[in-house]
Amino acid sequence: MKAVLDHVGIAVSDLQASLAFFKDVLGLHVEQTEEIASQRVRATFINTGQSTLEMLEATAADSPIAKFVEKRGPGMHHVALRVEDIEAALAHLKSRGVRLIDEKPRPGAEGALVAFIHPSASHGVLVELKQPAPKVELFKTPVRLTLGDLELITLMDGFFALDGGAMFGVVPRPLWEKRLPPDDSNRIPLTTRPLIVRNGKDTVIIDAGVGDKMDSKNAQIYKLDRRYHLDHALAEAGLSAEDITIALASHLHFDHVGGFTALDKSGKIVPRFPNAKYIAHRAEWEDATHPHERNRGSYLPENFVPLKDAGVLTLVDDGAEIIPGVKYRRSGGHTPNHQVVTLESAGRTAVFTADMYPTSVHIADPWVMGYDLLPVDTLFFKRSFATEAIEREYLVFFEHDPSMAAGYLREKDGKRFVERII
Ligand SMILES: [Zn+2]
Ligand SMILES: [Zn+2]
Repeated sequence: MKAVLDHVGIAVSDLQASLAFFKDVLGLHVEQTEEIASQRVRATFINTGQSTLEMLEATAADSPIAKFVEKRGPGMHHVALRVEDIEAALAHLKSRGVRLIDEKPRPGAEGALVAFIHPSASHGVLVELKQPAPKVELFKTPVRLTLGDLELITLMDGFFALDGGAMFGVVPRPLWEKRLPPDDSNRIPLTTRPLIVRNGKDTVIIDAGVGDKMDSKNAQIYKLDRRYHLDHALAEAGLSAEDITIALASHLHFDHVGGFTALDKSGKIVPRFPNAKYIAHRAEWEDATHPHERNRGSYLPENFVPLKDAGVLTLVDDGAEIIPGVKYRRSGGHTPNHQVVTLESAGRTAVFTADMYPTSVHIADPWVMGYDLLPVDTLFFKRSFATEAIEREYLVFFEHDPSMAAGYLREKDGKRFVERII
């Protein structure tokens, strides 16, 4: 069994007071604080280079840390060893008759799997085994490519996270968790990737991310990370909000059109792209402005009503051509009038799939989001779309994928996969 020291756990009765010592007196680097619901503790990591200190404070009276502090006072609590395969490590220990607290791994901080060895077996030391979450490589740089006469630039508007169960609908967690590992609150990392399409005359932006108007409560729920967002991406691509002539919505959910409006200096909500004509689907607009209990949380009026008030909104129907070669195509499913956007030039086709293929992990036909209002419609559209995309070699864009912006759908020996391009 191969294991390396990952961290030393220290039980504290006053997290702030202990951080004052380790951070201010010892000068160590303090990282984020995380609540681990399953163990009823709050954990702060202190980086010491090769390994970390984990300061643990109880969040409930029946927390194991509360009991430890009550019995022995604050101090060293456990030693954590990092292993590659925790199931194999536990099987090995069981075969040697070692007494375990956890027969099976359970979720720990930062998406890791953990299990404890009983201190009676390890000479009075509580030993934690930890298998860290596989790393998702987050990808943010804008990439420029040409499609016939069209120039395409992929952008991104920060990271966020949504419930993994909701993102994969009826697909069981053991099937998706290896591809997009969830955090301790079962949220998987996601991004939003607006796409710029230029033809020498117009600069179109398709969707514009979550934007900057979200309140702190929701920002926490959705784990909003806006250290890098659309303004940075536009600047890196040599563009500014003023350059956009058309802003096109795949649909009107907050994670797609949150960035369509912004607060001006006086606190008024105004169109984010001052020179743009905004385009949305007529029936989608009807749904967004007449929400019901099931979709109200996704349609936030401040993202689209100010566009109508400012007189910059145009409503169009299925199949509308936005600029030559760029068209709406109704997929339905996610919302009854959800649109993918097809881009065609010089015999080549790319498709901005929005929430039809939110990530490259969703290319299997039945991997449909729990958020979808009409999941069977999504399934039927995906089924025919995939055949078409594979046969005609469509370049497919994944708006929410944290690590891949676009690729080609392929099939080999009955297995479907994505050949990554960006
Ligand atoms: Zn949506
Ligand atoms: Zn979405």
